[in-house]
Amino acid sequence: MERDLSGLLFPRSVAVVGASGTPGKIGHALFQNVASSFSGPVWAVNPKYRELLGRPCVPSVADLPQPVDLAVIVVPAEHVAGVVRQCGERGIGNVAVISGGFKESGEEGARRERELVELARRYRINLLGPNVLGLISTRVGLNATFAPRGALPGDIAFMSQSGAFCTSVLDWAWQERLGFSHFVSLGNKAVLTEVEFLSAFARDPQTRVIVAYLEGISDGAAFIRTAREVAREKPVVVLKAGRAEAGARAVSSHTGTMAGSDQAYEAAFRKCGVIRAQNVEELFDYAYSLAKQPLPRGRRVGIVTNAGGAGVMATDAVEWEGLEVARFSEATARRLAERMPKAANIYNPVDILADARADRYREAVELVCGDPGVDMVVALSAPAPILTYAELAGILADARERFGKPLSCSFMAGELGEEAEGILRGAGIPSFFDPARAARALRVLADYARVRSQPRDGPRPLPVDREAVRQVLAEARAEDRPQLGLEAMEILSAYGIPVARGGFAPTPEEAGELARGLGEQVVLKVVSPDIIHKSDAGGVRVGVPAGEVEEEAWRLLRRLRERFPGAHLKGLYVQELLPPGREVILGMARDPTFGPLIMFGLGGIHVEVLRDVAFAVAPLSPREAEGLVRGIRGYPILRGVRGEPGVDLPALVEAVERLSRLVADFPEIAELDINPIMCYPDRVVAVDLRFTVAMEEGT
Ligand code: ADP
Ligand code: MG
Repeated sequence: MERDLSGLLFPRSVAVVGASGTPGKIGHALFQNVASSFSGPVWAVNPKYRELLGRPCVPSVADLPQPVDLAVIVVPAEHVAGVVRQCGERGIGNVAVISGGFKESGEEGARRERELVELARRYRINLLGPNVLGLISTRVGLNATFAPRGALPGDIAFMSQSGAFCTSVLDWAWQERLGFSHFVSLGNKAVLTEVEFLSAFARDPQTRVIVAYLEGISDGAAFIRTAREVAREKPVVVLKAGRAEAGARAVSSHTGTMAGSDQAYEAAFRKCGVIRAQNVEELFDYAYSLAKQPLPRGRRVGIVTNAGGAGVMATDAVEWEGLEVARFSEATARRLAERMPKAANIYNPVDILADARADRYREAVELVCGDPGVDMVVALSAPAPILTYAELAGILADARERFGKPLSCSFMAGELGEEAEGILRGAGIPSFFDPARAARALRVLADYARVRSQPRDGPRPLPVDREAVRQVLAEARAEDRPQLGLEAMEILSAYGIPVARGGFAPTPEEAGELARGLGEQVVLKVVSPDIIHKSDAGGVRVGVPAGEVEEEAWRLLRRLRERFPGAHLKGLYVQELLPPGREVILGMARDPTFGPLIMFGLGGIHVEVLRDVAFAVAPLSPREAEGLVRGIRGYPILRGVRGEPGVDLPALVEAVERLSRLVADFPEIAELDINPIMCYPDRVVAVDLRFTVAMEEGT
C-alpha cells in the first residue's frame, strides 16, 4: 500500500510546534524560514507567545483553529511524543520531527523513537524523522528547515540521511544556482524512509531526477521493488556512504544504522538500475547532466577542440568511461576537410587549431553534432584571445537546440564569466575545467539510457523438486547439523544443477563398492563437518584406481584421524574422475539488508588469490544470471581465448539462475559454496558443495 505524501510534500497550511522568538534557537531559525518562505497559513505553537514574527501563535496543537496539513515539531525529545499524539487527535496527518534525542542517542532515545512509530501507526501519520534538518518544497514555496539558506526551484528531488550534509548541499547549490523540486532530510527514518519518497518523487511531475545520500537502507526488498520501477521512469542517483569497513562502523555509530556490505549495495543498485555516485562531485555532476540533457541513442562520442592536449585528455576519458570515440561518416570527413585548415585534424578528436575564430568553431561543432554516427559531443577549448567564452557558449547552446544531442564542455579555464555561464546554464550544458569530468557527465546519460531500455524481466519459473530439498534441510535441523557438504549434493540435483556422479559412503568397504560403477579411476573426498578445506587437510585423493579404493580409503581416514584427532569423520564421498576443465565458484551469502547475494567467479583452489568475483541479488532472471557471468574480469577465459575453446555458457548461466532460485526458495540456507563447478565446452558439472543451514526458524 502506497502512502499519500501530498500533505507533507505540498502542504497548504503549516504549524511549527516549538517555534521560538529567541534568536540562535533552532525553533527560531526554523520558524523564521517557514514564515518568510510560505505564503499559505502558518501558525506558531508555543504557550509563551500570542504572536510570532507577525504570525498567530497558539499555546498548543489543540488550540489550532484548523487541522494543518503539516506540523513541524521542534520541542525537546521528551515532549515530542505528546505533541505527536495531539497532532493525531487533531487529525493532522503529516508531521516532521526536527528534534534529536532519539535512536541516535542511546537506549532511552531508542525507546522514545519506538513510541513515535507506534503513535504514527495508530493515527496513520506520515512522520518524517526524527532528528532531521527539515524539508523544502519549492513548488509550494515552503522552507521548513533551520538551514541558513533555502533552495532555488528546480527539477532535482534530493533526500539525505545526514542533516549536516543537507545544509552543505543547500549552501553549495545556492552558489551553483542548482535548483530543487523537493529537499528532504530523512534523519532516523523511523517511519518514512527513502522508499516512500522514491515513490512520491516518481509521481511528482516537477521532479526530473531523484538524488539520495544514504548511509543504510531500511528495507532492502522494498527498496529493490520500488527503485526498479522508479528508475525506469526517472533517473535515481545514490551516494551510499559507509563503503570501507572503517566507514561502515562510523555509520552505525552515527545514525544507529547498520550498513550492509558494499558488494550487496552495488549488486542491489545494479539490479534496480540505480546509478551509484562514488562521491559528492559525481552525485551532482550526474544529477545535473541527467536533469538537463536528453538521452543519447548510443555511446559514440564526437570531440571538438582548438587545443591538442585537451583533445587527447578527452579521448582518454571517453575510453576510460567505457564510451566510444565516434567514427565520422564520409560526408562529415569530406566537409571537415573542405572547411577546416590544412593543418587541422579532421578525424575524431577534431582539432581546429588555436587560431580558430567563432565561425570555424561553429562549423566544426555543427558538422560533428550533425554526424549520424555521433551520439554525444564533448566540446573543448583552451583560453584563446580571439574567441570569448560567451561566443563558445552561444555556439554550443545553438548546437544543443538544433541537434538535440547531449553535449558537455570543458574550456579549461578559471573563470568563464557571468555571461558564458548563464548561457551554458540556460542551455543545460554541463561545463567543467576537467575534460574527464565532461566525458563522465555524458557517460552517465548513456548508462541511464541503457537502464531505460532494459527489458522488464524477472526470474522465470523452473521445474524443481522443492520437497527433496525441504527434506534434507529438515533432517539437518532435526539432527542439529548446521554444516553440510557433499553428502547433501542432492539439493543441487533437485534444482537441476548438474553434479558429478558419485555417492556418500560411511565406510571404506562401501566406498570400494560405490567406486565400481564410476569408471576406472575415481576421486575420494573426506566428509566431515570439521574439515572445511578438504584438499588443504589432505582429504582429497584424485585419480584413485577403482580397485584400490577401499585400501586408499582406509589410509586416508587413518591419516586424517592422526592429524585431526577431534574431528568427526562421517565417511567418504566417492566421485567420478573428471577431465581437467575451467573451475568456477558459485556461492551465496545472506546480506542483512538485501538477503541472498549470489557470488560468481573464477574458482577452484585459487579463488582467494584471483579474487575475480561478481555479485548479484537473488533470485535472478536469465538476463541477470548472464550479466553476472559476463561481469567478471576473466569472462574472456570462459568465452574462449587464443584458440582455446570456451565453456558451455548457456549451461553455466542456467546453473547460476537455478542456484539463485534455490537460495531464494530456502531462506534457511544461510551460506553456500559450490567450488568448483567444472566447466567444459559441452557441459558444466558441480564437484564440491558446502553450505550452512540456519538452525532457528526464520533466521
Ligand atoms: P576442497 O575444495 O574441499 O579442497 P574439492 O572437492 O573442491 O575439495 O576438490 C579440490 C580440487 O580437486 C578441485 O578444485 C578440483 O581441482 C579437484 N577435483 C575435485 N573433484 C574432482 C573430480 N571429481 N574430478 C577431477 N578433479 C576433481
Ligand atoms: Mg572445493
